[in-house]
Amino acid sequence: MGGDVDPETIAENLSALSNPLRIRILLALAETRRPNWDHRGMSYSDLRSAVGIEDGGRFNYHVNELRDQFVRSEDGQYWLTTAGSRVVDEIYAGTFSAGHEAVSGPLEWTCPADGKRLEAAVDTGVITVSCPDHGVLFDMTLSFNSPRGRDPDELFAWANRRALWYLESVSWDVCPHCAGRFEEAAIAAHSPESETRLETLGCETATMVIVGMRCRRCGVSFRVPAFYYALTRAPTIAFLHDHGIDYRTPELEYGSTAWRCESEPLGDGVLVRFEVDGDRLEIELDDALETRTYRRTLATEDR
Ligand SMILES: [Zn+2]
Ligand SMILES: [Zn+2]
Repeated sequence: MGGDVDPETIAENLSALSNPLRIRILLALAETRRPNWDHRGMSYSDLRSAVGIEDGGRFNYHVNELRDQFVRSEDGQYWLTTAGSRVVDEIYAGTFSAGHEAVSGPLEWTCPADGKRLEAAVDTGVITVSCPDHGVLFDMTLSFNSPRGRDPDELFAWANRRALWYLESVSWDVCPHCAGRFEEAAIAAHSPESETRLETLGCETATMVIVGMRCRRCGVSFRVPAFYYALTRAPTIAFLHDHGIDYRTPELEYGSTAWRCESEPLGDGVLVRFEVDGDRLEIELDDALETRTYRRTLATEDR
């Protein structure tokens, strides 16, 4: 836990939310951000009539309880702070609501290892994708509201993008949970047999390099195959694009069938090889996982 997280203060700030009238004030203020994002705010009288409170003293008391942390006021105008905005976002995302919708069913996608149809289940904001033979291949948190009006394939496509966004964020040293920075990366080779599911399905190789990352602030750790780092670097994006592959394509997350890659540790970094249609990219990352060098060849040239 970050050193400046004080549970007493946090609890006190959050206690300002435990009143239905104050939630209505936040929701009324959220209306003003709808037409555009210039945050013009709301006048005292507009806000009071939007919330429908006759008693001025009672209304003032509750607005004051929200002030500074969730609501800002200046020159008689009221608007949501960033924290207020985040609370409203989570309210509409269903995070604090009861009775979440659940969705499950077969996917269009198949297991890259055995070709069997994958199954998805989305419940309490989490999607789980499994193969009848290999068990759970993938899981990811989504918004509680996500199943509403979406089918399992759409949800899986979104979950894949979201997972990739997480990995990309980690690869740029920004924790996707708290925006904290990471401790120094631990780069180590693993044999695929000792690894589980998703990580092994991505690469056909004797060894694979895994990068262990731990957030300095919230402490969450990630184990990211090194090829994901290479994947988000410009030479790889260009290489895959030249072969008609969008590096963000959903199948990437649980094992692509369109391309091959391997990774090996270098002592002071990692070497990742991508191969598509006989064309090959070798990209070397340093111990900070930044691009050191890269080289493109036709696979036939070095035989
Ligand atoms: Zn399978
Ligand atoms: Zn974090």
